[in-house]
Amino acid sequence: MKRDCSLVFSQSVFDELYEHLFPGDGEEHAAVMLAGMVEMGGRTRLLVRELHLAVDGIDHVNGNYGHKMIRAEFMRPLIRRARVERLVYIGVHNHGGRDYVGFSRDDFDSHERGHPALLDLAEGMPVGAIVMAKNAVAGDIWFPDGTRCELHETRIAGPNIRRLYAEADRSSHAAAIQFHRQVQMFGEGGQELLRKAKIAVIGAGGVGSLLVEYLSRLGVGSLIVIDPDTIDVTNLSRVIGATTTDVVGPSWPIPEFLKRLLFRYPRRKVDIAKRVAKQANPGIDFTPIADDFATDSAARQVLDCDFMFLAADSMRARLVFNAIVQQYFIPGIQIGSLVTPGKDGKSLDSVFTVTRWVLPGTGCLWCSDTIDRHQLAVESKSGEERRDQDYGSGATNPSVITLNAVGASIAANDFLFSFLGLFGTSVAANPRRVHHMERRVVDQKLTPNSECTECGSTSSSRFARGDGAELPTSR
Ligand SMILES: [Zn+2]
Ligand SMILES: [Zn+2]
Repeated sequence: MKRDCSLVFSQSVFDELYEHLFPGDGEEHAAVMLAGMVEMGGRTRLLVRELHLAVDGIDHVNGNYGHKMIRAEFMRPLIRRARVERLVYIGVHNHGGRDYVGFSRDDFDSHERGHPALLDLAEGMPVGAIVMAKNAVAGDIWFPDGTRCELHETRIAGPNIRRLYAEADRSSHAAAIQFHRQVQMFGEGGQELLRKAKIAVIGAGGVGSLLVEYLSRLGVGSLIVIDPDTIDVTNLSRVIGATTTDVVGPSWPIPEFLKRLLFRYPRRKVDIAKRVAKQANPGIDFTPIADDFATDSAARQVLDCDFMFLAADSMRARLVFNAIVQQYFIPGIQIGSLVTPGKDGKSLDSVFTVTRWVLPGTGCLWCSDTIDRHQLAVESKSGEERRDQDYGSGATNPSVITLNAVGASIAANDFLFSFLGLFGTSVAANPRRVHHMERRVVDQKLTPNSECTECGSTSSSRFARGDGAELPTSR
């Protein structure tokens, strides 16, 4: 069986490992990582959950075979832990050099001596090794079925998404002429990354439809759009691509079958999104899912995406989105607007748009109290809210295209800079609020909570568990 295998780090764990391996002494150092696993469509992703640094001279010593090795006393409790926690054991060491790395003959010999025994101890989980140089990572992962796999990519899911390979990619790709002006900014390599990207947009209303427009015009290769709703006349003021025919057609006094024929009635929001995407970029691979994102079958569709946008209002959608970021290491941005009318019913108290970036392990929607537990309980009780974008109350909230455009535009631009690594080095993924009445932009501070059940590092947390934990979805 041919496998495609990749490794994903959160930013902080990668930074800790990098400092340990490259303290500036030019020596070899080592560590052990335990990783959660995701298997989907023939691809295996390993998500680094735990990092155990080997202390030089104690855990990492000169071995019998003339090169350095990790001592059995250090490995043994960790391979046991990998077995119990159903995590993948990965040994790590570094070589010198930059932009290229490969295992030495000695390294491969030691894998052939050691990995069969480790596989036995891991009882059904893969085991492996990676070797790092500056700006390069190579890996040799062994699976219980006897297959072996080189790492195809190592990704760091930080504010700047970085990709590392055994050999730095210097190939050039000719971008289509339609992208010429943006290629002038981020190059053909950047355009190629967008072409290969698979992005999920959850919610195809006011914000989601704008995101679909932006992403397809940018040249994103694959879009998956999730929304259970059909279009109605009140959507015309802000759903991009919706036409009067889309909403008027269904009310015509003609037989139902004719309406279906003429208008494909009921016209679902995902169908309109598809039309928008195809008009912008006919070659786009578009998957419409007319279902509630919080159901298990819909949520699972995004698990091999590179990035997610949450543009749906329900707390259940937030809960599932947040869980997927932490459990599957798929970064995302949640977008929302809130208009609060004044008590007199005539004035406005506040109007703001918020974009909340959620990355693995850096604080999340759960520990920053952005998921309203009371509302979550209300939504979980009734079945109605699945089709209700209005917090289950049945009442509609104010919504205006210009507010949506601010949120969608900040989010899509942050995605672009993140995905192509265009940010400066000290950028933090803080939630950003635009207070429109005060004409003020406020960045909130996110404090990671190590006790958080979602993004924290406790033994029961969801962080990096991959397929090894349940998602908080409904059936
Ligand atoms: Zn080596
Ligand atoms: Zn958290």
